[in-house]
Amino acid sequence: SRYFTIHSHPKGLPTRDVFSLESRTLPALEAGEVRVRNRWLSVDPYMRGRMDGVTTYVEPFTLGQPLEGAAIGEVLESRDERFSPGDLVAHMGGWRDVAQLPGSGLQALPDLEVPPQAFLGVLGMPGMTAWTGLNRIAQLKEGERVLVSAASGAVGSLAVQLAKAKGCHVVGIAGAPEKLEWLESLGVRAVSYRDKDARQLGADLHDASPEGVDVYYENVGGICLEAALDNIRVGARIAVCGLIDGYNAETPSPGPSNLSRLLIRRARMEGFIVTDAQNWEHYPTFLKDVGPLVAQGKLDYKETVEDGLERTPDAFLKLFEGGNTGKMLVRL
Ligand code: NDP
Repeated sequence: SRYFTIHSHPKGLPTRDVFSLESRTLPALEAGEVRVRNRWLSVDPYMRGRMDGVTTYVEPFTLGQPLEGAAIGEVLESRDERFSPGDLVAHMGGWRDVAQLPGSGLQALPDLEVPPQAFLGVLGMPGMTAWTGLNRIAQLKEGERVLVSAASGAVGSLAVQLAKAKGCHVVGIAGAPEKLEWLESLGVRAVSYRDKDARQLGADLHDASPEGVDVYYENVGGICLEAALDNIRVGARIAVCGLIDGYNAETPSPGPSNLSRLLIRRARMEGFIVTDAQNWEHYPTFLKDVGPLVAQGKLDYKETVEDGLERTPDAFLKLFEGGNTGKMLVRL
């Protein structure tokens, strides 16, 4: 099996040479174990936090051991009676070509007419995150005004469409012109944050939603949060999903100078982790809600694909440069 590992904890934005491609011979299967040939690997922003060697809400990666992440593959060999060769499964043995793990760590793919890799993106953890943040954390209501940062990414692009489907007025923040165009094609007012300070971005958000926003779906932090705070309405809710702007910061950046807006507007800002039991138990409801829309082509989703295990670190690092639209994936 070939796999990626790291031998030291990166400082700041990781460089490509932090990642080392290694190989090892897998032992024969023990009772209950399954061997899987991976077809699709997920790279996700949260993986950066796992490289720091400290426990947050997940354990850090172990130096020298294979990195982990969501993956979809085909069962090669099984000593768990629930799985047979040829089955497609989802599991956390990513960053490698062949994974060997206990059958308890595998999930059969839900029965929906969608490509299998959709369960790493729009119908997997990122999709579930968008749905949870909007509906359960922000408690979005029909017709409200919504703002989403990193709006063309895996989470953001579903969040904007779910909000549109609820009849909301939706503004999305993104980087590149093609991303803004895609968002506009989905009926979203798209605003770029590039080369702007918080004040300028705030003014542009005001133009895009002159009456302000009831819900801010936060994926970025930094100037996006500061600009968003200038535009919140009374009773606004901010779902703090991610703060990617700070993931590679070597020193903490100062908080928004206008945090007092939360108070003035009697708004609520709440963090959440999608995989906590009280959120994840609603995954079947999410699939029932969103699965048919994806299968019928009523929801648009994009994938940015890198080919070959060797490209996994490059795919991961692109997340921090905006090198992806929609879900970032590696195809083996
Ligand atoms: P994306 O597909 O959105 O990829 C990351 C995107 O973030 C990039 O394409 C880029 O788009 C944007 N970005 C990167 N750096 C910056 C920056 N400094 N300023 C502004 N935008 C930036 O990733 P995901 O959809 O997987 O994740 C989105 C967010 O959701 C992340 O913060 C992640 O940590 C969080 N998350 C939280 C979960 C939870 O349980 N709370 C679960 C899953 C994800 P652009 O070109 O627009 O800059």
